[in-house]
Amino acid sequence: MSIMIALKCRRCASVNLQRHGHTASGQQKYHCTDCHFYGTLATKDAEREAQRQLVEQLHLERSSQRAIARITGMSRCTIMQILKKKSFNRSQRR
Ligand SMILES: [Zn+2]
Repeated sequence: MSIMIALKCRRCASVNLQRHGHTASGQQKYHCTDCHFYGTLATKDAEREAQRQLVEQLHLERSSQRAIARITGMSRCTIMQILKKKSFNRSQRR
């Protein structure tokens, strides 16, 4: 069984994707056969979002910024930015 996350077109959320070469930085590019979108999927964004959620969760558990930095391996600057953004934008993005 595959544990890979299903790839979805970031424009129309279709799963009918074909591989379509790589970017200069080596990211996989895709072609959506439904809406004819070409490009990378927002995998970096998804990664960042997952990290952001981890930071917020650790913050909720009253971990210090230093502890969060240690656990996530992120710099304290990054964590401060994430937590600052959170206070600006309390509603969850979807
Ligand atoms: Zn599409």
